[in-house]
Amino acid sequence: MRKSDSSRDVYVLLVEDDRDDFFLTQDLLQRIERERYWVVWAGSFERAKLELHERKFDVALVDYRIGERTGLDFISEVGPRYPDCPMILLTGLADPDIDFAAERAGAADYLVKDSLTEGLLDRSIRYARQSAQRRALLDGVLSNAATGMIGLDASNVPIMWNAKAIEALQLDGTPSSAISAATISETLGRVIGDVKGPREIARPDGRSFEVNVSRMKDGGAVVVLHDITMRVQAENHLRGAVEEAERANKAKSSFLATMSHELRTPLNGILGMARVLSGTRLDEVQRDGIDLIRSSGTSLLNIINDILDLSKIEAGRMELEHIEVPVAEIVDDIVRLLAPSAAEKGVELSAFVDPRIAPVIQGDPLRIRQIVTNLVGNAIKFTNAGSILVAVDEAEVSGNRRLRVSVIDTGIGIPTQKIDRLFQKFSQVDASTTREFGGTGLGLALCKELVGLMGGEISCSSLIDHGSTFRFSLPLPAEDASVGMARRSSVRCFETPVLLVSSNTGIVNVLGAYARACESSLVSAPTLDAARRTLDQRKIEVVFVDGTLGESEAAAFVSDLRRASSAPAHVFFIEGRSGQGDALRLAEADVIARPFVRNSFEKAIQRVKVASRPSEAEPADRGADEVEGRRLRILMAEDNPANQRVARALLQTAGYRLEIVADGRLAVERAQLSEFDLILMDVQMPVMDGLTATRRLRECEGLRQTPIIGLTAGAMEEDRGKCLAAGMTDYLSKPVDWDRLLALLDRIEREVYGQSQGKTAAA
Ligand code: ADP
Repeated sequence: MRKSDSSRDVYVLLVEDDRDDFFLTQDLLQRIERERYWVVWAGSFERAKLELHERKFDVALVDYRIGERTGLDFISEVGPRYPDCPMILLTGLADPDIDFAAERAGAADYLVKDSLTEGLLDRSIRYARQSAQRRALLDGVLSNAATGMIGLDASNVPIMWNAKAIEALQLDGTPSSAISAATISETLGRVIGDVKGPREIARPDGRSFEVNVSRMKDGGAVVVLHDITMRVQAENHLRGAVEEAERANKAKSSFLATMSHELRTPLNGILGMARVLSGTRLDEVQRDGIDLIRSSGTSLLNIINDILDLSKIEAGRMELEHIEVPVAEIVDDIVRLLAPSAAEKGVELSAFVDPRIAPVIQGDPLRIRQIVTNLVGNAIKFTNAGSILVAVDEAEVSGNRRLRVSVIDTGIGIPTQKIDRLFQKFSQVDASTTREFGGTGLGLALCKELVGLMGGEISCSSLIDHGSTFRFSLPLPAEDASVGMARRSSVRCFETPVLLVSSNTGIVNVLGAYARACESSLVSAPTLDAARRTLDQRKIEVVFVDGTLGESEAAAFVSDLRRASSAPAHVFFIEGRSGQGDALRLAEADVIARPFVRNSFEKAIQRVKVASRPSEAEPADRGADEVEGRRLRILMAEDNPANQRVARALLQTAGYRLEIVADGRLAVERAQLSEFDLILMDVQMPVMDGLTATRRLRECEGLRQTPIIGLTAGAMEEDRGKCLAAGMTDYLSKPVDWDRLLALLDRIEREVYGQSQGKTAAA
């Protein structure tokens, strides 16, 4: 019978020891229309193995009985090695036991020779081949899978697995022929036990696998072994890096604390001694030298403080206070302190604090002072002519009240494209080595961090050659509406327009702002003549005259005003340079000191009010009581000779009785022998440190109440905590702010001896 052209070649291995049966089966196969069967006969086990080894067969038909062995033995032994060649068992008689045994041995089918027809044979071969192909495809998928997989039957016996699974279970050294369901089952049990849920295997060679067991609905399970070596390595690496970073950060903090101590201590000596020297008789060259030492020392101290503050913020150790902040006072203070350096450059520095804002806010006064000082310092540095205005007002940002501080200068300005980088550490607009202005580029970065910690924002707008405005805002608590209304409605103070005679835009701007804030209007006249004309034309009750117009001319102008029939009720003279204004005093003008700040404005208003109520006397200006001699007996424990000399020079000059010892142990001895009113205790000293000495002193009867003031160069919050915990009454940071120390001593003297005694005491 001719086979059609579309029929395919199928190679069959017939394992059969009976010659007749071979021909019979071959005959059946060749009668099949659809396929072209090529049959190879193997009469023994060995022959069959050889044939399989030498060529590729599509199917094997294996007789049940071959000599002494059974076809089942052949299928279970040789079958797994040729998964592409399904094996069908042929038997002489139907027997259900053989049927089941064939299935267990891995036979693709079981056929009884007597009832064999060509159709039956054809179908059995086709099905067997199809299932072998499917199985081969599945094996392909599995062996290419990135994860290891093992399929378990209902009794947890592995029935399929892939190379990745073998690798994960470290059976990879074993030849694949030796890997059996039993070895896999045993290894699996050993490495994962009966743990439920995901579990990790860490192999001795450093590789890690995650094992997940998914139970199937109808029994059986799939074990998935996922290679997580990279993830585990990355995690370990990350953990190591975090630990390393934490160690480094701790080391950095302690390094900085130590360094700041080491740097501040000699600086203390330098600054203190320079201060002592500047109080002595010096020629011009020496005075210049001392001034330079003092200003350079102060800049160095500022840099150290900036670095320390930034690293404290980075380490998350910056603690902010939340107390009352008198904003206007702080701004006035800063402007007064920095005005002389602005004046040296011919720049007008003034402050406007809106009278309508709340007098105190909650926050950290020291840090707010630090930010404003920084911004004003920069404005002075980068402004060569014109004016700088520090303006404080209230603004509403998306429905929330904010305190807004703006520092507005007419300086060199900043290119727009560089504004974004201003607030980064170590960033300067002009970073060239030839740049004109010194600086570290830390100030604005610190301002930004501090403002951020307070929940506020900082920004800058600038126009090159016209000037810059740095502005920060801080959140204010929601206010009872009636309180705000009451504050705002009580500000109107001048009934008629205020005249300002000045050509200085800085003064015009600041007074204009005050006039606007208190619902009055300002008329400005750039010259005295222009002012005269204005006064002729309209009713003016309050006049401010700028001293920079020339003192004698201004004095003559004021005298003229006094004599005029329609003289304004109040004439204020804003002094041109400090120490000026005597001629004006004679001309009966009220002199307002420069810089013009909130307090200057308030004083002016107060004078206007007092004058309109003549029966009420102006409160007497209470000057500071000068203390001539002191009774306070002070013991100081300080090991640094430079600091000793500075302290001796300053405290003895101030009239205090001072004894100095060089370590804590001596301090304890001296304090027990003589009576002291106060002990100044350095914290770090040889022999016995200040903290131990304080604890010893507090154990002594009679020394429990004596004030002990710690002097600590440790800038960390915990250093201060340690001082108080050891029993100190208070502490001062080094380098010692001598004005603060003197004020503290003055207060303690008043407490100990009472005010009147302190004043009359002999030195
Ligand atoms: P420093 O002044 O110590 O360099 P800052 O962080 O305070 O550091 O300022 C960074 C840079 O920002 C300055 O170097 C300067 O270039 C620029 N800058 C700051 N304030 C002003 C200003 N008011 N006008 C012009 N440039 C400014």
